[in-house]
Amino acid sequence: RCHRARVLRRADTLASMSDTLFERIINREVPADIVHETETTIAFRDINPRATTHVLVVPKTRYRNVAELAAADPGLLADVVNTAAKVAELEGVAEAGYRLTFNTGEDAGQTVFHVHGHLLGGSSLGPEAR
Ligand code: IMP
Repeated sequence: RCHRARVLRRADTLASMSDTLFERIINREVPADIVHETETTIAFRDINPRATTHVLVVPKTRYRNVAELAAADPGLLADVVNTAAKVAELEGVAEAGYRLTFNTGEDAGQTVFHVHGHLLGGSSLGPEAR
């Protein structure tokens, strides 16, 4: 019984440590079209773009969602926003405007549970581009 508890605890630890797609992109195990990178963040194009510019902005440290990130490390959240602003400049949408959204939870359509901002911009940006 003791052994079984140990095995279950270990499975729990492994599950919480197991990589999401975004750790694999950060570690260069999965290819991505990276547009900008800093010491603490990475930005790469969404594989299924919903606007002319659709870039995912990701902190290299994993938190499940933006609320957990804000609570644990507000400076890192600021890094994510600053990287998004930088990418907006690089993409030429900073002046015209852009959207930065954080889907949180299944009802919002969050599929990757490593917090990421969707930077959406360009002339195609309508209310449906979220
Ligand atoms: P979420 O729905 O807010 O969790 O956003 C996940 C996003 O990741 C979706 O917009 C997907 O299109 C995008 N995505 C899934 N796989 C990849 C990939 O391999 N590279 C880049 N983006 C991806």
